[in-house]
Amino acid sequence: MPIRKIILANPRGFCAGVVRAIEVVERALDLLSTPIYVFHEIVHNQHVVKRLSGRGVVFVNHLDEVPDNSVCIFSAHGVSPAVRQLAAGKQLQVVDATCPLVTKVHMEAIRFTREGYSLVLIGHPGHDEVEGTMGEAPMHLVSSVEDVENLQVSDPDKVIYLTQTTLSLDDTAQIVEALRARYPRLTAPPKDDICYATQNRQNAVKDVARQVDLLLVVGSSNSSNSLRLTETAQAAGVPAYLVNDESEIRPEWLDQAEVVGVTAGASAPEVIVMQVVDRLRSSRAVPVEGLELEDERVHFAIPQELVQIAAE
Ligand code: SF4
Repeated sequence: MPIRKIILANPRGFCAGVVRAIEVVERALDLLSTPIYVFHEIVHNQHVVKRLSGRGVVFVNHLDEVPDNSVCIFSAHGVSPAVRQLAAGKQLQVVDATCPLVTKVHMEAIRFTREGYSLVLIGHPGHDEVEGTMGEAPMHLVSSVEDVENLQVSDPDKVIYLTQTTLSLDDTAQIVEALRARYPRLTAPPKDDICYATQNRQNAVKDVARQVDLLLVVGSSNSSNSLRLTETAQAAGVPAYLVNDESEIRPEWLDQAEVVGVTAGASAPEVIVMQVVDRLRSSRAVPVEGLELEDERVHFAIPQELVQIAAE
C-alpha cells in the first residue's frame, strides 16, 4: 500500500540540554587540542557520538581511562559526587555538561535527605542519569509498581519521590499512585522532575498516534526518552518502531501503512529525521505535515568553566 501522507510530530528531537551538551563539546574541540575526553556518551545517540569521535573526542566509561591533567567533559546525564572526587584526584580539567534539569534533581536529593526524608527514586536501573543521582544520597530505586510493594523505608510518614527526567508520564503516574497508596503522606518533588522536553514529545506522540497507521521514532536504543516515545505510541494502539536512521526501516512495516508518523527522541538530530522522511517518500510527492519545527523557547547557557577556558 503506498504511503499517502507523512505526519511529523511537533515538537521532536533535540532538547535544550542536548543542544547545550553538544555545543560544549564542539566549543571545546574548537578551543583545545585533542584528544578531549568525555565521560559517558555526551548524549545517547550513535550519530552524534560517531561524529564527535571523528573530530578527536574519546568517550570513556571509567575515569581511569583518562590520563591525569586532561580535559574531561561530563555528559548531559550527570555524574555522582564520587566521580567528581575521582576527577579532582586526577587533576582533570572538568567541563560539566550536565543538563540543568538533571542537576535540579540532584539538588532535590541533597536537600530532602538533609531534611530527614526517605528518598524513593523512580527510574531505570543502570541508566547513566540514575547512577549519577543515586550517588548524591541514600535512596531506594523503583522502576515498577511491583517494586513499590517490596519497599522498606525508615519513616513511612516522611517519604518523597524523585524521578529520572526521561520517564513515561503514564507509567510514572501509576508508580506514584502505588507509592501514595502505601505511604499516604508521600511528598512530591516541588516541581515535576520529568522534564519539559520529555513531556512535550510524549504529548505530541499521543496527538500524532490518533492520525497515523504507523509511527517511526528516530533515536538510539540506549536513549531512554526515545524508547518511551515508542512505548507511548504502542500504548495508544499504534505500531511503533525505534530506528537509528533510515537504513533500519523495514519494508514490511510499511505494508499496511497509508499514513506514517515520524518523531525523534531528545538526542536525535533533525537531519536524520529528514533522511527518514526522504526514504519514506522514495522520490514520490507524498505530502509531509509538520515540517516547521516548534521552538520550545528553552535555552541553557554554556558552563562557566568553558567560558573561562575560552577567555584564557
Ligand atoms: S531530556 Fe530533559 S533532562 Fe534530558 S537533557 Fe534534555 S532537557 Fe535535559
